[in-house]
Amino acid sequence: MEEKEYPLETACEVCQIQLSKVSQTKKLTEKELYILTNPKRVININFPFRMDNGDIKIISSFRIQYNDARGPTKGGIRFHQSVTTAEVKELAFLMSLKCACVDIPFGGAKGGVKINPKTLSKRELQRLSREYIKQFHRFIGDDYDIPAPDVNTNPEIMGWMLDEYEKIKGEKHPGVITGKPLALMGSKGRSYSTAQGGFFVIEEFLKTHPLAKEASIAIEGFGNVGYNLARILTENGYKVVAVSDSKGGIYNKKGLDITQVEKHKKKTGKVKGFKGAKNISNEQLLTLDVDILAPSALEDAITKKNVNKIKAKVIVEMANGPITPDADKVLNKKKVTVIPDILANAGGVGVSYFEWVQNISKNYWTEQTINKKLKEKMVRAFNEVKLIAEDEKCSYRKAAYILAINRILDAERARGNLPAKK
Ligand code: NAD
Repeated sequence: MEEKEYPLETACEVCQIQLSKVSQTKKLTEKELYILTNPKRVININFPFRMDNGDIKIISSFRIQYNDARGPTKGGIRFHQSVTTAEVKELAFLMSLKCACVDIPFGGAKGGVKINPKTLSKRELQRLSREYIKQFHRFIGDDYDIPAPDVNTNPEIMGWMLDEYEKIKGEKHPGVITGKPLALMGSKGRSYSTAQGGFFVIEEFLKTHPLAKEASIAIEGFGNVGYNLARILTENGYKVVAVSDSKGGIYNKKGLDITQVEKHKKKTGKVKGFKGAKNISNEQLLTLDVDILAPSALEDAITKKNVNKIKAKVIVEMANGPITPDADKVLNKKKVTVIPDILANAGGVGVSYFEWVQNISKNYWTEQTINKKLKEKMVRAFNEVKLIAEDEKCSYRKAAYILAINRILDAERARGNLPAKK
């Protein structure tokens, strides 16, 4: 049997599906597709881990460095019982696209540890975080691959990881990890940067859209991203009419007082039951008749099952992958504008990049400077995507992919890894 020059043995399946849509507009060669669908480096380490009670567990852990043509790879580390190579590959691919889409000089990576961190004691959690670095320190570095927090990891864990890395190296390397606590030279503004970036994109979008300040906005999720987005929008005079968390949602046609909702959530552990708003279910929130819907909770919120009930005119993907590909197709047909995750939620990696720049230059900026720089990045990226969408008459998602892919392939070409453009 004739051997294929580019077998796709290590390919990321979801990435192949996404890229096949892009290649309907932008023809990709076999070599280009191979580079884009295969991660550069897949590291899987199974290590023994001693629990507090003396038991030893074998833990499976990953780091996938997907594409480094544009710079050191960048991406979070998640602790979750369902982490798989396929999932980490897909997330690392998305990080490569996200960094390229908003023109951050990083490639994409992702890390994972297959464990439910909620079953660990605090001491075990710290030991596990340090063990991850003991296992992976050879593969990361401030000019090589830079981790950050992701699902179930946070600034405290990044602090332990940085400390372990610096102990092993015997040197200070604050730029090796971002999303650190401020006490360890994390960046001002990082704690709400994903929402801030999303806000800049929404504002820029509304500048040329008939929906203006009076647009009604519903936000799914009231965690770091959802709460901060609701807060920033209302602080800037926008009307957030509904929010939700895992226990349910609330709705008030006239708009919610987000400061009071946050106080209520702190007191009761949920947004439901807030005086001055009607309780609604999570499903109702997604299908409200609003101008803008911002899914900011988990992936797969809008699927084949509920897509036909969606009434929002615009959907801003603040979560990663909140719309399944089949639901996306339906929304496209219904002419619902979708601002994709790799653009809308890139504010987090944007400020992570600023944190790294500050760390390696040892020059620290004010919160005002950081937000000004973030605004420039997000507004420029949005307008670049918009221009491609208008030129190609395609969705914002396809346009964002085209922009990101062109940037990655141009970098590969400039390195001599692909033939020059004819
Ligand atoms: P978080 O854990 O702080 O908040 C998640 C929120 O979603 C919580 O309020 C939770 O109660 C709520 N939720 C869970 N299931 C829900 C449901 N079915 N309906 C309504 N609400 C539900 O997480 P986060 O950091 O805010 O991240 C949210 C999303 O944004 C994730 O998809 C994450 O990958 C993505 N994201 C986050 C960042 C960041 O900087 N935090 C950056 C990029 C992307």
